[in-house]
Amino acid sequence: MANLRFEAVTAAFHKRPLDIVAPIERPSEFFARKVFNRQKMYKYLPSDVYEKLINVIDNHERLDRSIADAVAKGMKQWAEENGVTHYTHWFQPLTEGTAEKHDAFVEHDGKGGMVEEFSGKLLVQQEPDASSFPSGGIRNTFEARGYSAWDPTSPVFIMDDTLCIPTIFISYTGEALDYKAPLLRSLHAVNSAALDVAQLFYPDVRKVQTNLGWEQEYFLVDEDLYMARPDLMLTGRTLMGHDSAKNQQMDDHYFGAIPERVQAFMKDLEVQALELGIPCKTRHNEVAPNQFELAPIYEECNLAVDHNMVLMGLMKKVAHKHNFRVLLHEKPFKGINGSGKHNNWSLATDTGILLHAPGKTSEDNLRFVVFIVETLMAVFKYNGLLKASIMSATNSHRLGANEAPPAIISSFLGKQVSDLLAHIEKADKKDLFTLTDKKGMKLDIPEIPELFIDNTDRNRTSPFAFTGNRFEFRAVGSEANCACALIVLNATVAEALTNFKKRVDQLESKGEDRTSAILDVVREDLKQCAPIHFDGNGYSEAWVKEAKRRGLDTESSCPLTYDRYLDDESIRMFESTNVMHENELLARNEVKWETYTKRIQIEARVMGDLTMNHIIPVATHYQSQLAKNVENMFSIFDNDEAVKLTARNKKIIREIAERTQIIETGVEELVNARKVANRIECTRERAIAYHDIVETKMADIRYQIDKLELIVSDELWTLPKYRELLFIR
Ligand code: ADP
Ligand code: MG
Repeated sequence: MANLRFEAVTAAFHKRPLDIVAPIERPSEFFARKVFNRQKMYKYLPSDVYEKLINVIDNHERLDRSIADAVAKGMKQWAEENGVTHYTHWFQPLTEGTAEKHDAFVEHDGKGGMVEEFSGKLLVQQEPDASSFPSGGIRNTFEARGYSAWDPTSPVFIMDDTLCIPTIFISYTGEALDYKAPLLRSLHAVNSAALDVAQLFYPDVRKVQTNLGWEQEYFLVDEDLYMARPDLMLTGRTLMGHDSAKNQQMDDHYFGAIPERVQAFMKDLEVQALELGIPCKTRHNEVAPNQFELAPIYEECNLAVDHNMVLMGLMKKVAHKHNFRVLLHEKPFKGINGSGKHNNWSLATDTGILLHAPGKTSEDNLRFVVFIVETLMAVFKYNGLLKASIMSATNSHRLGANEAPPAIISSFLGKQVSDLLAHIEKADKKDLFTLTDKKGMKLDIPEIPELFIDNTDRNRTSPFAFTGNRFEFRAVGSEANCACALIVLNATVAEALTNFKKRVDQLESKGEDRTSAILDVVREDLKQCAPIHFDGNGYSEAWVKEAKRRGLDTESSCPLTYDRYLDDESIRMFESTNVMHENELLARNEVKWETYTKRIQIEARVMGDLTMNHIIPVATHYQSQLAKNVENMFSIFDNDEAVKLTARNKKIIREIAERTQIIETGVEELVNARKVANRIECTRERAIAYHDIVETKMADIRYQIDKLELIVSDELWTLPKYRELLFIR
């Protein structure tokens, strides 16, 4: 019997790294070669058009339709000079990936021929055939069509022969059908709320920008081995597979095998990413074998999100070229470290101040305290919602699995900041703040040496950690669109800052000194948000109990966490910040529950197929071999001796019989559970049934299969094993 597994292993072993020749220019020279950035705009656009477009980008002025034609013309000229023949509106539907529909730059010329055309109208707005994208019913209820609209704040770029135009995707009645539209609204909300607060301290600040630096983790698996694992191909993760024994004899061999293939992949990926304007900086191995990380330098949040989406697509393409498959799933291998995507988030002024960074004067440090505390207020008040924003069928395998942040949102601050906050909360206000005649005031806020902050113990178990001048939202999944988490973070922080400002204004209008008013409000909030602050070990059992006592959200069922989006206070918060309206939230939750169900449904089907077509036949085959051996032993030896000598094989035969029996019953139950769940009309209830019943049954079946893998002859086993998937590269 030909065994695909061994063919795949042999093929994988013989692969050599591709020879990747980096461009002769320096990275700074080929950086953004494929991006229509400011330099190119300047070169390809008439100067008045250039000025107007920059104004749109920098100051969020409304786009003047009259310049659209000129911009389109310039873009087309640049694109054609770079061999581009097609263009596409590139958008981010609620399916996590990106979507595009390519059109050629051709139109009828009215004389029976063709001309190359790209008008402003086509740049600005289009109507993709959107019926296949999830809308949660918005398009049914309102208007059948949706359209994509150009986002001028994220520059167009070239992928292969196509000009990609970043767009938002909305229904004709204005509801967002994507991630980008609400992300842009949330950025507007948080930037303007932060500006109002920043101006309390620095009247010369004109603008605040949100920054994002993501760190993308991923696995690489050899393509042949991947192809021999239908579960990886169809679900992105292994649905079965026993841990690889660390001290396997073969390991040394595997460890020694060609890591240069990965190097070549990384080099290729980085060159292409740099050409697309993604400022790649760091690459390194991650904790698990065959796990890696890539991180760029942080950028403006909307652009950074687009870049992450581009990068994830690029990774898949480049990996394929190097005969790898990239796994972005948060938990491809049970018992092995999963993949996340830390989101480093900060607010910065146009005058160069990072609002979450301590400063040199006590006034700066009061501002620092305000931004830290108001961020904590947001995270505290909406901790359940923030968790919902990072939850998915796939990421839920990673959370709380003793290697990633638990399914409880809390914030780590480190000793320096904790001490400072304690001082501000506990000190007598008179001591903190004294007016000293004409010289102004004296503020007793201890300095925070930056050096110390950089050295603070970075508690890796914290899902939302302060790291010196930013917060790091670590619970985000590797496969996710960062926007999903950031929409919530930005919106909630916007609300907290707006509330803060309102209360300070009220106190000021009653005649209280500004600094004193700020101190009053921040001290009040500090007390209120205290439960979210946790510097301890987030993996411990004790923390779960403690978090419950503190009133934090400890729900771990994915479909139930989504309920937080529809809490009255969440809806009010999203509406007051103008980030999303109730019907959008309702529609999005429909999509979330539906997506959850589909993923588990596919997993359950694949598990059923694999069990029946691979596991049971192989186990039975081996069992027959053993049975034959037992029979033979009785024909060679006398009865007493044969009984003794066959005891071990008989034990295995029995174990296989028992386990396959349990598996078969399990699969039957799994099919029935699915049937019952599928009949449930309500998407939420259906997702809950998939979570509570279908998923649990899969875990039971897997347990039995993994035990079989240990006793069945290696030679017969058809699915590449963990040690092969994880160590061959
Ligand atoms: P880590 O120790 O977590 O790996 P790094 O220094 O490698 O930290 O930074 C990780 C990411 O955080 C990078 O993308 C980096 O550009 C980004 N980053 C650094 N400072 C900021 C900031 N102030 N705001 C947002 N992102 C930041
Ligand atoms: Mg990090």
